[in-house]
Amino acid sequence: MTGVRGKLVVISGPSGAGKTSVCRALKQHPEVEFSVSATTRERRRGEVDGIDYHFLSRDDFQRRLGENQFLEWASYNGNLYGTPRWPMDAALGRGRVFLVEIEVKGTRQLRERGVEGLYVFIAPPSIAELRRRLEVRGSNEAAEIDARVAIAVDEIAAAKESVGGRPLYDVTLVNEDLPATIRAVEALLWP
Ligand code: 5GP
Repeated sequence: MTGVRGKLVVISGPSGAGKTSVCRALKQHPEVEFSVSATTRERRRGEVDGIDYHFLSRDDFQRRLGENQFLEWASYNGNLYGTPRWPMDAALGRGRVFLVEIEVKGTRQLRERGVEGLYVFIAPPSIAELRRRLEVRGSNEAAEIDARVAIAVDEIAAAKESVGGRPLYDVTLVNEDLPATIRAVEALLWP
């Protein structure tokens, strides 16, 4: 470690709220590095192994979990997702902004462990709008959309929790308009 400390930014929120689009915009900034998660879920059309995710078998994921390779991990709708540990340490040591896009249970683990950072929750304007966005996106079947909407209801409630006397999230942004939401996150990062 060089003694230089970068900044961890956690972007979280329900599937369909727009957090991947927000992260895609933030990745354009040269000082931002992005965590590539591991997952056991099936690869969607257009996704590239090693770029969008590290797609792992369940056995491989469990083995890495046993080796303590993940900074945090969670089960989401029957699949496992985890943040590999070393890229964050390396990026922060170089003084970079390190972006992780994770769901709420993983965020809670980071807070519980006292991991310092800016924790941002991207919320949809409404559940009806969230469902509409998931339908328009077309990457999930109807049953999967129902499951994701049900998880979203729980996540929106959980986002209001506190962990150890601190709010789980520092900021909640309602993503009505994507460019405005991106500008709001940029203003938090580079005031
Ligand atoms: P999706 O299947 O839509 O790519 O992701 C499902 C959910 O898992 C999303 O809320 C996404 O942000 C979250 N997710 C992706 N990677 C990770 C990770 O490494 N850890 C945790 N806890 N959640 C993740």
